[in-house]
Amino acid sequence: MTSTTHPHAVLFDRDDTLIENVPYNGDPAAVVPMPHARAALDRLREAGVKVGIVTNQSGVARGIITADQMTAVNRRVEDLLGPFDVVLACVHGPDDACSCRKPLPGLITSAAAQLNVAPEQVAVIGDIGSDMDAAAAAAARGILVPTDVTLPGEIEAAPEVAADLVDAVARLLPEREVS
Ligand SMILES: [Mg+2]
Ligand SMILES: [Zn+2]
Repeated sequence: MTSTTHPHAVLFDRDDTLIENVPYNGDPAAVVPMPHARAALDRLREAGVKVGIVTNQSGVARGIITADQMTAVNRRVEDLLGPFDVVLACVHGPDDACSCRKPLPGLITSAAAQLNVAPEQVAVIGDIGSDMDAAAAAAARGILVPTDVTLPGEIEAAPEVAADLVDAVARLLPEREVS
């Protein structure tokens, strides 16, 4: 299913969506973009669509990485993939009862508010079910880009599935070819 109007903002999960997942990574040198990430982001930027990152980083709550290390990794992501209009991380753990850890919608609703965009005008691209559940809970459009570790059930339950990031963006900007 495709919509006839662009989303006003696209929010990306970080690990295994924009960059290869290195569990609890605190090292900027270990950041490796996923295939087509830069091209997909630049296509959205050219179309005037705001782009953001919404990422669970419980390694901070767990004491495995510091908040400064997480920020340094996010800066490296921007060095490699270009500037983002908003970058929001949940630094809590699963037992912290926060309202932002995906699959809860807090990161998405907060990012939408910062961008002055209604959640209904936001698309969320991620690699696992909790990304899609967070999108649905925020009334945003979810598109799953599975990896080798995405569970079959998560793929079956996803509202939309794209082969890669460029394919996902093509679904959001359907009136023009994306290559
Ligand atoms: Mg992920
Ligand atoms: Zn949180």
